[in-house]
Amino acid sequence: MSYLLKFSLILFVQIIVTSVTIAANFDYQLKATKVAENTYVFVGETEDFTFENGGNIVNTGFIVTSDGVVVIDTGSSLRYGNQMKEAIASVTDKPVVLVYITHHHPDHFLGNQAFKGVGIVALGETIKNINNEGAGFADNLYLMVGDWMRGTDVLAPNHVAELGLVTMGRHKLEIMSLAGHTSADMAIFDHTTGVLFSGDLIFHKRTLTTPHANFEQWLASLTTLRALPIKVLVPGHGPITKTKKPINEMVDYINWLDETISNAVNDGLSMTDAMQIELPERFKTNALLKSEFSRSITHLYLSYENLVFKRVN
Ligand SMILES: [Zn+2]
Repeated sequence: MSYLLKFSLILFVQIIVTSVTIAANFDYQLKATKVAENTYVFVGETEDFTFENGGNIVNTGFIVTSDGVVVIDTGSSLRYGNQMKEAIASVTDKPVVLVYITHHHPDHFLGNQAFKGVGIVALGETIKNINNEGAGFADNLYLMVGDWMRGTDVLAPNHVAELGLVTMGRHKLEIMSLAGHTSADMAIFDHTTGVLFSGDLIFHKRTLTTPHANFEQWLASLTTLRALPIKVLVPGHGPITKTKKPINEMVDYINWLDETISNAVNDGLSMTDAMQIELPERFKTNALLKSEFSRSITHLYLSYENLVFKRVN
């Protein structure tokens, strides 16, 4: 066996052993990144759900106020929620008094059980969506990340969000009811620090997902967000920025996706053919472009076909 081959084999085995060991500790290694005064984020991987990442693919956050800690999204499992609580306790001894859930996707709310006894707040439509779809999401995540999910059950938010300005300590939080990524997407803008928690209305350097998308609503929501005096943008997935550039990139991709699917349907392409369409260079720096584009075709093709057939009739 050549030296190089032996070396690569050893390296390969080491990588496998390391990733299995990390996964087997079931430690998400959550580290609170300070993004503004009193404001912290746990930045997840820009990956799909895997056993290796345990479902830590999402950004969650918290704001420490003199009235207590406000949590934004609780992650993908009971274990994530518990580890988040521990990581918060290493930053402040103030209790968590309020939890906001931005939308009903599993990576954002399945840590809720860790915050039992605290007010968990979401848009009314989000609570309905969690009651309808939450159990199915949890089952699916068990299949994808396995034992990381042990003990995780759906705990739906227990309060419907009050919209507009909510004051916590000296933080003035604007609770916004938007839509487009799902039928109900909450964004939270802190007027005190200029931090926007956009939920999944904004993906950054990670291709957006569309299982419940409505592009018209999504573009309108992005217009609303762009008008805010944002100093720090915390997307639902991907790195934090101090510019609004990710919003423009979202608009660009949504418009491209909408046009590309429309054209493919009008040209009579099958779904499989549409999935082979050449993807523009400018989107290739976004993680999971190819796989999410294919998924979007699966999610959206039928509704575009129905539109075209309606027009013909
Ligand atoms: Zn989502």
